[in-house]
Amino acid sequence: MIRMAAVDKHFGELHVLKDINLEVAAGQVVVVLGPSGSGKSTLCRTINRLEPIDGGEIAIDGKALPAEGKALAGLRADVGMVFQSFNLFAHKTILENVMLAPTKVRRQNKAEAEKNAMRLLERVGIANQKDKYPAQLSGGQQQRVAIARALAMGPKVMLFDEPTSALDPEMVNEVLDVMTTLAKEGMTMLVVTHEMGFARRAAHRVIFMADGEIVEDATPDDFFTNPTSDRAKDFLGKIL
Ligand code: ATP
Ligand code: MG
Repeated sequence: MIRMAAVDKHFGELHVLKDINLEVAAGQVVVVLGPSGSGKSTLCRTINRLEPIDGGEIAIDGKALPAEGKALAGLRADVGMVFQSFNLFAHKTILENVMLAPTKVRRQNKAEAEKNAMRLLERVGIANQKDKYPAQLSGGQQQRVAIARALAMGPKVMLFDEPTSALDPEMVNEVLDVMTTLAKEGMTMLVVTHEMGFARRAAHRVIFMADGEIVEDATPDDFFTNPTSDRAKDFLGKIL
């Protein structure tokens, strides 16, 4: 579903992604771990071309990602993304936030978009807040809206970049629960997170990045009990 082949990316002198080769099968949940600055966010951002790449190829569902233009907008809609900061539109209600892209980009009619949005808001447990504005919701609620908004485009792949890092501890689980349900329903997911419980529970694979490279690619069981590289051992020693 996601295929990255020999992907390279620089920021000026800095070589942030070095020959990244990664295949994520449909329905697979991959957790990305690694120290700060190792390139995890950049990896996510290249997958929907929020960041251009310098070399290599990225394909979603067998279709190569074009560098720009109309075709890119179409393919980008196949990739939903949820960030640490929820980035909801402050002056739109929860319902409007979820309906916006489907009506503007997908050209869904209002009734259809609203029906779909309400279904998604119910799914993330927040339908009763639909007429409120983002600032009236807790961080955990806002992040669940952000997930519903991404799902409203009917993506084939969901990317999560530290979706719970900005949340108060008591709100982390309500977001992870939504993600776990999505994973169980068979969504293809790439998740950058420090939540090791989620990695153990929901991931099929753990990828460990260091200095712009994929250093380990293993099942959660293997990775946590038997990391092979010194970098991963060092990392786990600090966080576990
Ligand atoms: P963290 O765990 O702190 O979120 P990360 O693994 O997500 O780190 P990235 O954000 O991908 O790391 O950054 C990788 C490297 O690229 C870092 O050294 C960072 O400073 C650098 N970098 C990221 N974005 C840019 C940019 N827009 N311009 C220049 N350098 C950048
Ligand atoms: Mg990051």
